[in-house]
Formats: sequence, structure tokens, C-alpha cells
Amino acid sequence: MSIAEIDLHSALKKYFGFSGFKGLQEEVIKNVIEGNNTFVIMPTGGGKSLCYQLPALIKEGTAIVVSPLIALMKNQVDAIRAVSDNDGVAHVLNSSLNKTEIKRVKDDILNGITKLLYVAPESLTKEEYVDFLRSVQISFMAVDEAHCISEWGHDFRPEYRNLRHILKRIGDDIPIIGLTATATPKVQEDILKSLGMTDAVTFKASFNRPNLFYEVRPKTKNVDADIIRFIKQNEGKSGIVYCLSRKRVEELAQVLQVNGIKAVPYHAGLDAKTRVKHQDMFLMEDCDVVVATIAFGMGIDKPDVRFVIHHDIPKSIESYYQETGRAGRDGGEGHCLAFYAYKDIEKLEKFMSGKPVAEQEIGHALLQEVVAFAETSISRRKFILHYFGEAFDNETGEGGDMDDNVRNPKKQVEAKDEVKTLLETVKNTNEKYKSKDLVQVIIGKSNALISSHKTDTLPFFGIGKNKEQRFWMALIRQVLVAGLLKKDIETYGVLRLTKMGKDFINNPNSFMMAEDHVYDEESDAGIIT
Ligand code: ADP
Repeated sequence: MSIAEIDLHSALKKYFGFSGFKGLQEEVIKNVIEGNNTFVIMPTGGGKSLCYQLPALIKEGTAIVVSPLIALMKNQVDAIRAVSDNDGVAHVLNSSLNKTEIKRVKDDILNGITKLLYVAPESLTKEEYVDFLRSVQISFMAVDEAHCISEWGHDFRPEYRNLRHILKRIGDDIPIIGLTATATPKVQEDILKSLGMTDAVTFKASFNRPNLFYEVRPKTKNVDADIIRFIKQNEGKSGIVYCLSRKRVEELAQVLQVNGIKAVPYHAGLDAKTRVKHQDMFLMEDCDVVVATIAFGMGIDKPDVRFVIHHDIPKSIESYYQETGRAGRDGGEGHCLAFYAYKDIEKLEKFMSGKPVAEQEIGHALLQEVVAFAETSISRRKFILHYFGEAFDNETGEGGDMDDNVRNPKKQVEAKDEVKTLLETVKNTNEKYKSKDLVQVIIGKSNALISSHKTDTLPFFGIGKNKEQRFWMALIRQVLVAGLLKKDIETYGVLRLTKMGKDFINNPNSFMMAEDHVYDEESDAGIIT
């Protein structure tokens, strides 16, 4: 063990009381200390904060930490202060400070006491702050929740857009560490480009959560009863039920209470006192279940949440992953149960209308992934991990049998010929269609787009009409996960052949497929309010 390693371990013990690093932390920290640009992609709970906190404490100068969430910044500052003998070690710089407080922050920085300075991106637009920060020694800059910089992230924040310029003004050669828990390959690329650090060393932890069990059930008009039954089967365990609307949160919380379940509602429309009370009740186990909108969860660190139920399907796989990720943090059981009806997707699409076109296209593409996830019959875990750019083998991977589709597999059929037909159609149409239109071409149904390209006059139009639309959609999803096709993100999902796909056309081999689940479109009539 080199001296640097020994020092890191003792610093870890000294400041945080931990006896070892988690996952990739040590490699990340070394890279930051060496002064390189660094990009960290780790799921929530992976221990990202330490990746910049420890180097900040060790290095000379002050580290600037950009974070979008004021409440979380305060928590972090408190936590750092608790392990230091000087409160000045960490500060938040924001618009709520008065003159005396600002002076104190500046003095502590100038005196070399402050190792971590948390700022919201909008505070960095203040000339006065930028000028000050230019004049002091900055060790590095950490950009937390870096996905906020990308329109393809689930939480785009325009004020993150300018960060690169502001950071450059503070110092041209100050190293940057970007951190995120959500990174599809497209978001990763956006972050590296937008922060001007394409040279960054990237550290990506696995997103696999082997202890979580994933399940999707059809959402019928009996969804409330289904939820009650599930909770009663899990009596005494802690869980979260996510709903889309505040109204639904209130109603469902009441329904659960009437049925003898200790449940409380949580949404941004409740006053702050009630929200804190309900959150504390959940943390202190005075209630078992929180029925909530997505306002609930950020920064809530309850390790033994045993189930997360989605009464309404979320608007992206990122959101789904984030929300289900709150289950089983302690490594114990965590059941993730989502109720799905296509009508809910239509509802979410309606919310998007009226937004700028690019935003709608992105929102639509993200929703299509949710549909694919809900309807697929391949392993849910494999699907999610593929979405995050990670290959997963159910035979050898941890948690390989932990989802409904793997436990109750659908019968598989040989689809070698159909895959060939599909790939050839992608090729013959010069890779210009998204899944839905491509399927229309295959089954021989024209639409405005198809006829504008005159694809409906070509000999292969309708080549697969002996099979239903549903079959072809399912096949496309499975072929995507198998890596024979890929979706082009820039065009919001146009299908392109991969090298593997091209090879398959020339040299087809066995391809076993399972049909998707079929959800009864009528079954949820009048359910959601
Ligand atoms: P993230 O920001 O990736 O969601 P956090 O930084 O909040 O994760 O860390 C998650 C939890 O793991 C925290 O409770 C933190 O104290 C703990 N933790 C981080 N690093 C270590 C470590 N090396 N050993 C033990 N616990 C750790």
C-alpha cells in the first residue's frame, strides 16, 4: 500500500469514521486529488458526496460545490460541520445570507478555513461572487446532480446551462468533478460536453440493485383494492405509494386509512409543517405507508423501505429507477410494484402538449421507453440496465431472477426469420423510421409519413402482415436489448442497424422471443382522477 493510500484511509477514518471505501470511491478520490477532471456516475446511495468531500478536506484551497437543492446543501453542510472542530469548514453561499453572514463566509475562505463552499447555480450568476471566487484559491469544482445540465435528463435546469462559462471565469484550469445518479449514454455525453470536460476520467458504478424485485401489473378499476391487498400482505413493513396527482394522493391515503392501514399523504400542496410531520412519522415508524407525489423522497434516507408502489406509471425510466431505488437501501427486501395502463401514458402525453416542440419530442421518447418497459416480457432488470448502457446476464448476474418476467416467463418462440425481415426492412428503408412507423411499413399500413416517402409503393411494404402489430413491436424491443438495432437519440428514436444487426442479416442465427404482455385497454375506465 502506498503512502497516499494509507493517508486516504486514515483521512476517511478521521473525518467520517468509516473503515473502508465504498465501490469506486477510492479511485475517484485519487483522481480528484491528482487534479484531473472526473466524472462520477453512481446510483443514489452509492456514496457520491464523499468523492468530493474527502478530497476537499485534504486539498489546499476551497472546493466549490454546485448543487440545485438548497435543502440538501444545508444537510451536507451540517454533516461536514459535525465532523470538524470549526464550523467555518463548510458554508452555503446563497441569496438568503445577510451582509454579516456573507462577510463571515468570505473571511473564512480567505483565511483558508473553508474547505467546501456550497452554491446554487443561480448564485453564481452574481458578479460580486464570481469576482470574489476568482481572487481566492479554489481546489476544484464539484457539479452535483450534473444531469440537470441535459435536456435529456429527468430534471433539466436552465440555470445549469451557463455553468461552464461561469466556472471558466472563476478559473480556467480548475479541475471539475461532475456527479450524477442518472446517466443514459446520451445524458453522459451531454454532461461531458456541456461542462467542457470531454477529457474527464469516467467512473461508472453498476446500476444493478440485486435486492430489488421488479413487478408490473395491469391497472384495473380495482387498483385501490389491489394496493390494499398488497400492503396487508406486507403488514408492518414500510412502504411508499407514488401517485401522479395531489388529489389522488389525498384520496388514496384516505382509502388506505379507512382500511386500517397506517398511511399519511405527502405532496407539495401540504403546508410545510404537515409535510415535516408526515415525513417524520414515516422515519420514526409512526406510520407504515406514505402516499406521495414525486415531491417525496429526495434526501430521505430510510434504509428499510420494503416496497415502493407506483399507482401511476412515471414519466421516464430514470424517474422509475430513482423512485424504486428508495426501497431496500439496507440491502434487504425491496418490492417494486408498478400499475400500468396505457391510458396513463396518454394522460402524461397530454400534460406535455403546449410545451416547446423539442421538449415534447424528448418527453415522448422517454415515455415510449416506459411503455416498452411495462409491456416487455424480458427481464425487467435487464431492460433497466440496458437503458443505462449496462449489459446484464440473468444467468450469472446478481439478482438475475428478481423480477416478475423472469419468475413467470412467457413461452418463447423461434423468431430468426422475423428478425431478419425486421432488420432488412430497417435497411431497405434507409434507417429513417421510428418503431411505430416501421411496424406500419412491415404490416402494410400506410400513413402520412410513410406515403410521403413513398415507402408504401415498395415491394417489401407489408412483408410481415401475417403477424400483428403487437408482435412486431415486441420483437423490436427485444432486438434493441439484444443490440441488433439501436435508437438514434438525436432524431428522438429513429431505428438504426448496429454492426451486430448488419452481421445478422448476412448470417442469421437463432433468436428466441417472447410476446409482450397484453393489457386490456378498457380495464381502467374512469379510474384516475
Ligand atoms: P449519493 O450522493 O450517491 O446518493 P451519499 O453520498 O448520500 O450517496 O451516501 C449514501 C450513504 O452512504 C450515506 O449515508 C453515507 O454516509 C454512506 N457512505 C458513504 N461512503 C461510505 C463509506 N465509505 N463507508 C460507509 N458508508 C458510506
